[in-house]
Parts: sequence; C-alpha cells; structure tokens
Amino acid sequence: MSIALPTNRNPIRALPISVINRIAAGEVIERPASVVKELLENSVDAGATKIEVAIENGGIDLIRICDNGCGIPRDELTLAVTSHATSKITDAEELFRVCTFGFRGEALASIAEISQFTMRSRTAVADCGYELIVNGGVAEDIDACGMPEGTIIEIRNLFYNTPVRRKFMRAAQTERGHVAEAFTRVALANPDIHWTLVHNGQVHYELPPVDDWSQRISDFFGPEISTALIPIENSVDDVHLSGYVVDPAVNRANNRLQYLFLNGRYIRDRSLQHALSESYRGLLMTGRYPIVFLKMQMPPQLVDVNVHPAKLEVRFQDGGKLYSQLLGSIRNKFLSTDLTAKAGLNPPVQTSPSQEWRGPEISRPSTGHDSPYRLQTPDPQSQERLAFPNSPPARDWTQPSAPSMVSPHFQSGRPGTIPEFQPFPNSGYSAVPRSEADSSVGTENLDRIPVQPADHRARPMALQVHNTYLISETEEGMVVIDQHALHERIIYEQLREKVLGKKLESQKLLVPEPVTLPPADAA
Ligand code: ADP
Ligand code: MG
Repeated sequence: MSIALPTNRNPIRALPISVINRIAAGEVIERPASVVKELLENSVDAGATKIEVAIENGGIDLIRICDNGCGIPRDELTLAVTSHATSKITDAEELFRVCTFGFRGEALASIAEISQFTMRSRTAVADCGYELIVNGGVAEDIDACGMPEGTIIEIRNLFYNTPVRRKFMRAAQTERGHVAEAFTRVALANPDIHWTLVHNGQVHYELPPVDDWSQRISDFFGPEISTALIPIENSVDDVHLSGYVVDPAVNRANNRLQYLFLNGRYIRDRSLQHALSESYRGLLMTGRYPIVFLKMQMPPQLVDVNVHPAKLEVRFQDGGKLYSQLLGSIRNKFLSTDLTAKAGLNPPVQTSPSQEWRGPEISRPSTGHDSPYRLQTPDPQSQERLAFPNSPPARDWTQPSAPSMVSPHFQSGRPGTIPEFQPFPNSGYSAVPRSEADSSVGTENLDRIPVQPADHRARPMALQVHNTYLISETEEGMVVIDQHALHERIIYEQLREKVLGKKLESQKLLVPEPVTLPPADAA
C-alpha cells in the first residue's frame, strides 16, 4: 500500500522572530498573573528590596511593577526584550547550577510581543533612567527619563493583538484573584523584601520585610492558620527542609494551601503532595487537605528546573529520598506534638476578609458539593507503606469496610478497645458513606437500628452496623464513625504516648525508612 505525500508542501524556513516570540508567549503567558509572576521573579533576581505591583481591572488593562533592583544599562535595554537573551546564564553547563528564577531569556520578549509594553530602568552608575517602548513586538527609540535606581515595567492591554488568547481571560475579579495568588507565592518565598499590591488604586497588601516567616504567613492567611503552625526543620545530607505544617484541625477542601518552595521557587509536585497527604493520614477528615508552608533547600545540581516553561514543575534527581524525608519529618513531628490540644472543636473553616478577595485560589468553606463529610477511598499501596510500627497486619483496604479518615475530635481510647463513644458537642463533623459500595449505611439499614428513647440523650450510645460503623445520636442529629479509621487514630495516639513516655526525641526516624513511590497517576 502506498501513502500519498502532500504535493503542496511549503519549503522549510526559519520562523520570523515575532512568531517565535508569540509561540513562546503561548507557553509562558497564560493570563495577567503569568506576567506578574515573570516580572516579580525578575525583580527578585535583580536584588530588589522593595517591589510594588499595581494592576487595573484584574491586570487586563494594566500591570505595573516597580522595583529598586540593580536596573538595566541603556545599551542592554533592547537585548532585554530580545528572545533568548539573558544575563543569568552564559553556557549550557550553568543550566544545571541555576540559582536565579529566570534563565531562559524569554519572558520580556514574549510579554512585549503581546502587549503595549514600557520599560524604564536606571542603574546605580547612570545619571538618569532610560525608557524603551515596545508595541506588539515593535520597539521604539530609547529615551532618557527621570527616575530613581531600579526598574519600572508597565504592560497595557495584554493580548490586544492575540484576540483568541484575550477571549480566554476571565472576569477582572477572577484575574485579580490569580494575580493575588502569583503575588502571594513570590512574596511568601521572600519575606526579606518589602511588598505592595495595589488593585484599582486600592492597596491590598503592604508588607514590610520580616525576619520571622510565620509573620509573613500570618499577613496572608490570618490568625486561623498562623496560630496553628507547627514548625518543621530537618536535614538529610544536602537537603534542608524547614517551615511549617498546619495543625490537622485546620485544613481545607483542596490542596491549594500547600506552599512548597524549592530553593526559593514555588513548585507543584504530585509526588510531594502525595507525601503530604500520607503524613496527615488518619488525622484529617475525608476529602480534606493539609495546609503547609515548606522550604526545601538543595544544591541546584540535584534538581532540574528546566522541565516546565513556567518552571512550576521540576525534576528531582532522587525524588524518592525527598518523599521519605518530607513524610518522615512531618510524621515524627506529629508524634511528638499534642495535636488534640490544638484541635479543639473548631467549626468548619470561616473565610477571613483578607482571604475573601483572592478569588478562586483561596479555599472556601466547603459546600454540599464539596463536603468534608464524604469518606475517602484509601490508597491500598500507601496504606501498606505507612503502617505504623506495632500496628496490626495490613487489612484488605479494597473491601467495603475500608477505613475513612477520622475527625481529630476523637480522643485516644484504651489500647486495643473501641473507646466509649464521645459525641461531638457543637461539632459539625460526621461521616457519611463513601459511595454506593458503602450504601449499607443508608436509610434502609437504619430501619433496623433500634431508636433510642429521648430520655437516653444525656448518655448517647453507639450502635454497630455491618461490623464496621458506629452510629450515635448527637444534639444536631447523628454521627456515623468508621471503626477502622477510629482504630488508626487510636494507634496513632498510643504510638504518640509511647514516644512521649519513653522520651525518644533523640530517635531520628520513627516511620520506617523504605518508601515505594506511587505510580505517576496516583497522587
Ligand atoms: P530571564 O529572566 O530568563 O533572563 P527575561 O526576559 O525575564 O529573561 O529578562 C531578560 C533580562 O532582562 C534578564 O536576564 C535581566 O538581565 C534583565 N531584567 C529583566 N527584568 C529586570 C529587572 N526588573 N531589573 C533588572 N534587570 C532586569
Ligand atoms: Mg525572567
């Protein structure tokens, strides 16, 4: 069989620079927040100690970034907006030792291609500043201007010449939320810088430099989170982990408040997110996610940051080791921390006013659709991996009675027994079946459960259903508890008591070291 080749094929030719820039912009610049991210990273790379972001209409109309960094000399201004032109690396070798945010030399060229772009910059040795205007990739002559040392970049009408992209932009409020998130990520990672964020002339954040990272976390996330921070610090070989995990009693319905910084760069990593979930296993309700703020420092040779256009994802040389370190550090910390004391009886999360404006990235109190009360389908592999020392043999988690997460409101009971059931006064927590497979605790089965007389309310009893669930009355209604999840919690508490009792603080790792990484799609 012969395949017909196209006859009207065009000759191969190199693409014009403007097309190359537009292609690069397609990868790197998705929305105003991407511009803000790139420009803020440039300002940090320039050694700025004061950085101000001002946006109008969610950044759709205007993004202006001012910094007091090192500035750009007049004769390099045009190069700065030329693709693949950078001051941050000089050869391929340096790609593996990058210590700056940028190194691809693409951002300014891409942004200037798809906007009305003005850059003013002044170095310490210059008598004045210089201004370069680029409209849709077409540069004008450079002019002198008055300004202090540093750089001011203004981007107007983003995507004005790429209407298809422009259509993808959302309402100004949504874009503003994304910009705020981009700002938060860079500002969180750099507490020693003075940060300002202004939207439509209104100051939303004014954050002077701070020594204490928890202060910066508090600035962004308020007292609910900052009072629940648990410090973590740990080094394994050249990899240093520091920062905070948040008490499991304060959690979210999504994983957006998991801030992981690698050598100062905000990253998303499915494997590390999985390690976080594992480290909180047994301490969170189903469908709830931990909140963490963790910095990882490692020699740049141990990680490839050149795998994602926006460098949001990286590739670790030894991801498994990092996974173990993260998991072990958090687990050990929890075992030596009295979580129940902090857990209290917090109602489901209230959104603070400072969080309110941050749009879609901030977690919200859960809705019916996103209920914290659903049971979680456990991951059998991870369950085996994380069996605590002295825990009973791993069960078959695929059976209908597989465990759920259990509320931190459970207090430890006597070893090996189901503790006397304690109702949750004032608590909104309960658990309901996971799926149809678990619908055995549906109404039809409830018919068979003897109803307690009203005068027994003072001393509620727990009833067992299908050898798996405990059901009891509360003042608000009823609670359904998965016994196996409860058992997990009891084991955790027993282990914790042992650790505290025997004063094993000197022991480095209580969680067994060997960890099998999950398959790529398991996180
Ligand atoms: P990259 O950051 O990958 O080098 P960019 O296109 O973002 O590429 O920037 C190109 C160059 O412009 C940078 O290498 C840097 O020398 C210079 N530059 C950009 N922004 C600033 C700034 N705010 N202050 C000083 N220099 C800057
Ligand atoms: Mg850059």
